[in-house]
Order: sequence, then structure tokens, then C-alpha cells
Amino acid sequence: MITDKDMQHLRRCVELAAEALEAGDEPFGSVLVDADGNMMREDRNRANTVDATYHPEIAVAKWAAENMTPEARAKSVVYTSGEHCAMCSAAHAWAGLERIVYVSSSKQLGEWMAEMGVKSSSPINTLSIQEVAPNIPVDGPIAGLDEEVKELQRHSLQKY
Ligand SMILES: [Zn+2]
Repeated sequence: MITDKDMQHLRRCVELAAEALEAGDEPFGSVLVDADGNMMREDRNRANTVDATYHPEIAVAKWAAENMTPEARAKSVVYTSGEHCAMCSAAHAWAGLERIVYVSSSKQLGEWMAEMGVKSSSPINTLSIQEVAPNIPVDGPIAGLDEEVKELQRHSLQKY
């Protein structure tokens, strides 16, 4: 069930993804929200400008692990423009965070790349969040907003 509040956070993720693309990074953005709906942390992909492991999903999970109590983390939600990769799903679970809501799935990204004739440059297998961390409640993709992410990914993938 996706609420108006969820949609606000998801739209912010897409904005952050656009900022990442603009800055020369990959178009992914994430927002960490606590049990009361407060935005605690947001970040974007910095894989080209910082280091290859700088995905926003692991960045917000690490921030939560360092700055929030286990009780607060267990009620927190991470919104993200694209489904967590295996590294980020693992970090989310180890940090003891709760729900994930993503705009577009890893499966969709794979389909978009196939449409464009782009071969994946990912060094790891594409696993769904549930395959890595089966106890995390997950929602997504979000019809309509996923088209905006597709557009950002299309721009990003054109350079390959
Ligand atoms: Zn990741």
C-alpha cells in the first residue's frame, strides 16, 4: 500500500537520482525516513566521484547504523529510485532497517538495458532484495514514476 507520503519520498529519490546523473554519477537516489515520518538522511550515487561502492542505499544504511538506535532503525523505511543491489540489500538487513520501497526494480533495469542493447557492467549477480534479505518488507515498482527513472537510466546508459 503506497500512501501520498510514500510518493513524496519516492519523488525526492528521483530528484536525487537526477542530481547524481547531472554530477556524472549513476542515477540513483535514496531517502531514510523514521517511524514518525521524519526524513533522517538522503543521499545519491557517487560511484564515479567518490568510489565504486558509494551507492546511496548502503550510505544511508551505514549512517543509520552509526546514528540511530536499534529500536529506531527497526521502524525505519528506506525509499529508493532503484531496487537495492545485493551489497546494499545486505547492508540494509545488517543495519536492522525495516521496509524498502523502490520506484523501479533491478529486473526492469535489466530489461531497459536489453532494449538499448547495453551489456551490464555490474561485477555482481542481479539478485532481488528478497533473495538477499528475505525478512525485509518490500514495495515497488511504482507505475508511472518508474518511467521517470527509465528516462534517467536511458541518459546514463547512452554513454556505453
Ligand atoms: Zn547498491
